[in-house]
Amino acid sequence: CGIVGVLGNHEVAPLLVEALKRLEYRGYDSAGIATVNKGRLDRRRAVGKLVNLSDLLVHDPLAGKAGIGHTRWATHGAATVVNAHPHRAGRVAVVHNGIIENFRELRAEVTAAGLTFETETDTETVALLARMYMDQGLAPREAAEATLQRLHGAFALCFLFDGEEDLLIAARKGSPLAIGHGDGEMFVGSDAIALAPMTDRITYLEEGDRAVVTRAGAEIFNAEGQRANRAMTRIAIDS
Ligand code: GLU
Repeated sequence: CGIVGVLGNHEVAPLLVEALKRLEYRGYDSAGIATVNKGRLDRRRAVGKLVNLSDLLVHDPLAGKAGIGHTRWATHGAATVVNAHPHRAGRVAVVHNGIIENFRELRAEVTAAGLTFETETDTETVALLARMYMDQGLAPREAAEATLQRLHGAFALCFLFDGEEDLLIAARKGSPLAIGHGDGEMFVGSDAIALAPMTDRITYLEEGDRAVVTRAGAEIFNAEGQRANRAMTRIAIDS
């Protein structure tokens, strides 16, 4: 339902939760964040209000300057901690808005490749598919691209990888996604409102776009895989 991603210069957990708070108005049943700290990917998830996630983070903090977050409105699988995003498989973590229409076929393929599912969500298929491609030797960027080419449906996605503290991969197909530009920091959000405390410089992804985001900026590619120029706009939202 709500997506946020941050490649920051400070601890990102508070920024992620703050951004998710700004997406609360959209409704959600659970929430979670993942960060990479000293190369290690880890995550925290909680059912119910964001305050439950904040409480969890007080007792069990997540350090790191790169991270992703999500508020979930369940479509496939009950509103449980296990089904909450970010979903993880191997070195891959992913947050997802929307529905992967062909997840049953993909699930069968990934299962046949020897990987096992922990959840009933359509989203976990995305993480496991990317993991399968990485197990086959693809680098994070190529694995994300190979995964995206397999997905049918309307969705927005943001990937984070264990061992990669300067990389987010974002993709938009039927569900909005924006890139935020900071000073040596970069952001991803399903809604520019989420990013307002961090930046007013926004690039909206267009249908079929993928963005390879590092602190140096975002490289955007269209659905045909060609480099695309998307305008940056300044938004006026109260922060
Ligand atoms: N289909 C996904 C799920 O049920 C994502 C739902 C959403 O947009 O929050 O987990």
